[in-house]
Amino acid sequence: MSLVAEHVSVSIDRADLLADVSFTAAPGRVHSLIGPNGAGKSTLLGVLAGDRAPDAGRVLLRGRRLDEWPLRELARERAVLTQEHGVTFAFRSREIVEMGRHPWARTPAEDDDEREIARAMAVTDVAHLADRPVAHLSGGEKARVALARVLAQRAPVLLLDEPTAALDLRHQEDVLRLARAQAADGDAVVVVLHDLNLAAAYSDEITLLQRGRVAAHGSPAEVLTAERIEDVYGQAVEVIEHPRSGVPLVLPVR
Ligand code: ADP
Ligand code: MG
Repeated sequence: MSLVAEHVSVSIDRADLLADVSFTAAPGRVHSLIGPNGAGKSTLLGVLAGDRAPDAGRVLLRGRRLDEWPLRELARERAVLTQEHGVTFAFRSREIVEMGRHPWARTPAEDDDEREIARAMAVTDVAHLADRPVAHLSGGEKARVALARVLAQRAPVLLLDEPTAALDLRHQEDVLRLARAQAADGDAVVVVLHDLNLAAAYSDEITLLQRGRVAAHGSPAEVLTAERIEDVYGQAVEVIEHPRSGVPLVLPVR
């Protein structure tokens, strides 16, 4: 079940946040969205989520425009981790994760609530934080609780905005391994990443945004060339092949 953005533009006060962006999230694939600060990554994720209507173009889920989906049904189809991750202070971790099950209330899938909550908390390594108020958690712990809520939702399209930003090395790898596992299960995973090496290692495809436009789209090796990264990020880099995996390694010239 694909989520497809066709020629999407978003403008505010005559500034183009997105201009003619096309993007496909396909089942079984991890599609990373990269680009400098302010490139429009979060705006595009918001459009893909249906949280923000494009000014031009359209977004189709299962061939149906997002604004035609009832919200509750949409919530069973796609789960969104926003950059602020909406973790509210007054709750305990487990209560946050339980919120992910709301779209399934009064449906047969409600019977799976306990199992799904436990699974989501286990794979994000937050089971031990279940009774802790989220206000008392570290940034990385909060981010993992927010991710657990998204996974508990069990939507086949996952839209994750910088899920690794606050995480330590192991938890970053855990999150990307998890993204791959969800894709292997048939989910369509879209993930905004700043770490180009994480994107290179874990993505089936990468879209590089620059000032609201698609600067490149393709496999990691196709997108992550030194010339293009230097052009888009304004930072000299060397790109070498990992000696064993062959994955591109991006090294800033220092
Ligand atoms: P990214 O996630 O790639 O860092 P964003 O999608 O958050 O970028 O933002 C893209 C650009 O649009 C930025 O320059 C940001 O300042 C601008 N922007 C985002 N939201 C608004 C808004 N509501 N009004 C005006 N400018 C905005
Ligand atoms: Mg952003």
